[in-house]
Amino acid sequence: MVQAKSWILKQHFEGFPKDSDFELKQEQLPEPKDGGWWLKEFVFSTLDCICVFSVVGNSCVTVVAEVLVEAVFLSVDPYMRPYSRVRMQPGDVMIGTQVAKVIQSNNPAFPVGCHVVGRCGWRTNTVLDGTGLTRVLNDWPQDVPLSLAIGGLGMPGLTALYGLEEVLAIKPGETLLVNAAAGAVGSVVGQIAKLKGCKVVGSAGSDAKVAYLKELGFDHVFNYKTVPSLEEALKQASPEGYDCFFDNVGGLFSSVVLPQMKYLGRIAVCGGISLYNDEEPQTGPYPHLNMIFKELRMEGFLVGRWEHKNEESLKRMLAWVKEGKLKFREHVTVGFENMPAAFMGMLKGENTGKAIIKV
Ligand code: NDP
Repeated sequence: MVQAKSWILKQHFEGFPKDSDFELKQEQLPEPKDGGWWLKEFVFSTLDCICVFSVVGNSCVTVVAEVLVEAVFLSVDPYMRPYSRVRMQPGDVMIGTQVAKVIQSNNPAFPVGCHVVGRCGWRTNTVLDGTGLTRVLNDWPQDVPLSLAIGGLGMPGLTALYGLEEVLAIKPGETLLVNAAAGAVGSVVGQIAKLKGCKVVGSAGSDAKVAYLKELGFDHVFNYKTVPSLEEALKQASPEGYDCFFDNVGGLFSSVVLPQMKYLGRIAVCGGISLYNDEEPQTGPYPHLNMIFKELRMEGFLVGRWEHKNEESLKRMLAWVKEGKLKFREHVTVGFENMPAAFMGMLKGENTGKAIIKV
């Protein structure tokens, strides 16, 4: 029997999250269930167990084989803030992904000792069937940290890749703007856009982040918190305007960008972190006139749309890593008990690169 810890959403966040919105719980986990075949009649005689059975053919059922996993690295991401409102109820375990090690297994697809990325929520240990688990790539190199499977070589990195390739379809020679540029998604956006021959302008919230982005090869970077005028900073960085805008921030920032877009410019609406903690929705300026007169294209997206391409995409990105063309930084918080602090810190901008928790 394993004692598991989990972080619960005690009450819905009102405005910026606070410590008292979270509660740490302990529970004893059941043993993972064994798989197997059973006669259908058996199901009808044990109705209280029916939830673990599924009917196969006309006469047999199978018990889903379960595994027990132990979290190694957990992720805190901006989406958890808006999703908590629409997908969670008070008392639910906070949603989230983790890199975990399989420590007990009845499921041959996930043998003991293998590493998986799982949608387990903020939990130290989880018993589950294979649903929501993905094996870390078989050929994951020894010298590449496993934490990247929830970072640059995981969901945030793929978001960057798909936003650029599938939504914006960026072309060599184009000028791209990305905000929250020193974060998990933004820092990968800028590097891939450079790889593809673009001029890249990035904005971030501290001088240290600006210096990091210059190191990564961004062409122009500015601290959006200290420039006297965002509009002037955008004009200075690219007087001819922007072909593409990878928007992680939304709100007022995006409104200032729209007039700086080139005719027929494209905008990938990836995130709106400047809006996530609002109690009252922000209003205007509205995008319509710029959208119409510049004939802009704006498309929202979720990374999961291209899930079928993930394996091939991760291999491509891993090759860039091996060639030294793609680099990642992580902001590591040690200790499961510090997850709420890491989450709130990320929303405040404390992280450069991906915010992760090492158990
Ligand atoms: P980051 O690692 O970039 O962390 C969040 C960063 O946002 C902070 O470090 C901070 O950096 C910045 N920030 C916070 N508040 C504000 C604000 N009011 N104005 C401007 N910047 C702010 O997070 P991710 O890279 O994981 O995510 C970036 C965006 O991408 C988010 O909006 C997220 O929701 C979205 N996303 C969307 C996905 C999709 O499928 N569409 C998938 C993954 C992420 P700074 O110091 O620069 O202010």
